[in-house]
Amino acid sequence: MEQYRVQPGSQVDLSQWDPNDTSLFPVGKKEGRKRLKKLNKRLAELQYLLWAENKHKLLVVLQAMDTGGKDGTIRKVFARVNPQGVQVANFKKPTPEELAHDYLWRVHKRTPGNGEITIFNRSHYEDVLVVRVHNLVPPEVWGKRYDHIRAFEKTLADEGTTILKFYLHISKDEQARRLRARLERPEKRWKFNPGDLKERALWDSYMEAYQAALSRTSTEFAPWFVVPANHKWYRDLVVATTIIQTLEGLGMRYPQPVEGLEAIDLSGL
Ligand code: ATP
Ligand code: MG
Repeated sequence: MEQYRVQPGSQVDLSQWDPNDTSLFPVGKKEGRKRLKKLNKRLAELQYLLWAENKHKLLVVLQAMDTGGKDGTIRKVFARVNPQGVQVANFKKPTPEELAHDYLWRVHKRTPGNGEITIFNRSHYEDVLVVRVHNLVPPEVWGKRYDHIRAFEKTLADEGTTILKFYLHISKDEQARRLRARLERPEKRWKFNPGDLKERALWDSYMEAYQAALSRTSTEFAPWFVVPANHKWYRDLVVATTIIQTLEGLGMRYPQPVEGLEAIDLSGL
C-alpha cells in the first residue's frame, strides 16, 4: 500500500492522484468483492487477537468529501468484526458544549482503549477543513492546529495507539454521479442533503484544505493514505489491506494461558 501513503514532509497535489486508479488489484468489481470477503475474514481474526491480547489500540480515521464513501467503507470493510471490540465515532457539527471547549476535547475521549478498534467517521481534521473553508475561526487560530494535531497524534502513538488515516479520494464528476443517484433511487433519497450542493461549490477550497492537511500531518506515527475511491470495490480493498498489513506488523500474540492447564483433569465433570 506504500504507493498510497503520503510521505512525511511531502507536498500533496491531489490533481496528481488518480481517483480511478485500480492498478494494485486490477481485477474488476466481481473478483474484487470476492477478495474483500476473504479480507473481511482475516480482519475478523486479527481483531479477535487484538482484543485477546488487550495491548494495542487501533484508530482508523476516515475523511472524504460528501458522498466520498465513508459510510460504505465502514459497512464493507468491517462487515465481519465483532461489534464488541469496535466503535464508530461520528463527528458532526459541534454542539454548544463541544464548542465551549477546545476542538480536541470531544475527539480525545472517543479514542480507542486497549484491545479496541475505533473508526472516526470524520474527525478532528474537520477543524482544519470545513472550519478553514468557511472561516469559522480566523486563520491565526486554525493555522496553529496542524502542530496541535501532530502533537496530539504523537501522544496517542507514544501511548500505544496505532493510527491509520484514509482520505477517500473521489473526483468531482463522481460526486455528481453519486448525488444524482441519491435523488433518483428511492432508498437513497433520505441521504440527499441540499447543503451538500453548497459544499460542492467550494470543491477547490476543500481540495486546498485537504492538500494542506495531508501535507502537514502525514507522519511516521500517523500516516495518511490517499485512497482511489471512484471505484467502491477498489477503495474497500485498499483500506482493508492497509489495516490488515498494519495489524499483522504488530507481532500480536495470544496471552499465555494460566499455568498448570496440562494437569487439569476434567474427566470427572
Ligand atoms: P453523510 O455522508 O451520511 O451525509 P456526514 O458525515 O456528511 O454523513 P452530516 O450530518 O451530513 O454527516 O454532516 C456532518 C457535517 O458536520 C459535515 O458537513 C461536517 O463538515 C460538519 N462538521 C463536522 N465537524 C465539524 C466541525 N468541527 N466544525 C464545523 N462543522 C463540522
Ligand atoms: Mg453529509
